[in-house]
Amino acid sequence: MIKANLNFSKLPQRYLFLDIAKRVAAYSEKHPGADIIRMGIGDVTKPLVPAVIEAMHKAVDDCAASDTFHGYGPERGYLWLREAIVKGDYAPLGVKMDADDIFINDGAKSDTGNIGDILAPGTVVGITDPVYPVYVDTNLMRGNVIKYITCSAENGFTGDIPKEKLDVIYLCYPNNPTGAVITRSKLKQWVDYALEAGALIMYDSAYEAFIRNADIPHSVYEIEGARKCAIEFRSFSKTAGFTGVRCGYTVIPQELMVKDESGQPVNLNALWERRQSCKFNGASYISQRGALAVYSEKGRAQTRATIDYYLETARIIRMNMEELGLEPQGGENAPYIWAKTPNGITSWDFFDELLNKAQVVVTPGSGFGPAGEGYFRITSFADRQRTIEAMERIKNMIKLA
Ligand code: PLP
Repeated sequence: MIKANLNFSKLPQRYLFLDIAKRVAAYSEKHPGADIIRMGIGDVTKPLVPAVIEAMHKAVDDCAASDTFHGYGPERGYLWLREAIVKGDYAPLGVKMDADDIFINDGAKSDTGNIGDILAPGTVVGITDPVYPVYVDTNLMRGNVIKYITCSAENGFTGDIPKEKLDVIYLCYPNNPTGAVITRSKLKQWVDYALEAGALIMYDSAYEAFIRNADIPHSVYEIEGARKCAIEFRSFSKTAGFTGVRCGYTVIPQELMVKDESGQPVNLNALWERRQSCKFNGASYISQRGALAVYSEKGRAQTRATIDYYLETARIIRMNMEELGLEPQGGENAPYIWAKTPNGITSWDFFDELLNKAQVVVTPGSGFGPAGEGYFRITSFADRQRTIEAMERIKNMIKLA
């Protein structure tokens, strides 16, 4: 008899956002025509910028003629995109990066979920809590051991450095869901811990484009020693509205080593290349051409303007949450606002109340992990006017209660 991977039974029954969608669908069915404002999802709403559209149209035209047609691309992604990343994302930070440290992918979700393929099963993994659910779920699927690192207001939502020895640590800054950012000195503590413990940091900086404060690190590699202990994930999804286009990249420095069972060093960059060339056939030529356009002068200015729009929406949300005394976090250098539920009610109770009484959808904090209980997340990706209306509805509901 064929047996299923029983590790799946350790997962929550449904992916968080499916659970939310189900509740919203049930409400809509009962209340046809209800005007629901969705402040819960992490998808962007602004269209692609003109520089990207132009580049992608041109790429489609390339594929229409046999002498410029592109089929399967190189395993690591096109060199012109990897070189643009080195020059555009890392050189300005003073970080030395080689194009062969970079692997282009179809977005950060796949690689943050798949990266465990190159590590031994049973790895002890430290995951900040609350957290983007993909790290937890994919490690549970592999049968890995998960240790939660609690992130709270007391530690600035950046977790205390563990006393125990962990093999892998997932960090995400600017953070989803809390919107917290990490200081250079705190990130250095994490890198120092990893170097000393022989641990590997998985650094997800999918939201780095939202950083506006010059003191906040954009990359883990801004910290000395990180090339020996960290993998970094980045994405064009939130940087340039590529949630539907699909393109991102993973950095695995060529000097990054782990050990095999007999203690012999193993090169992770080489292992990942082997894994990708076996299981992945690349992001499309059209997506990669679109991503390249993000680094053009026009592309930079246009994508920055889009992010500025979201950041202004985030400021408005944060201000309203402050007015309600809900102690908001984030919303500055990040698209997410993390706030306390009123009167300490549970995250799901608040979600239901808001849906039923105000027809506003937020994300319940407990869906991101145990430490998220008593919080909720609002995103700044919705339309500005709809967001303002949602704020009014939330305020009216809480004031009337
Ligand atoms: N990492 C974080 C923290 C995210 O919030 C998301 C998406 O919401 C992703 C990665 C995945 O993004 P994508 O696969 O679109 O690049």
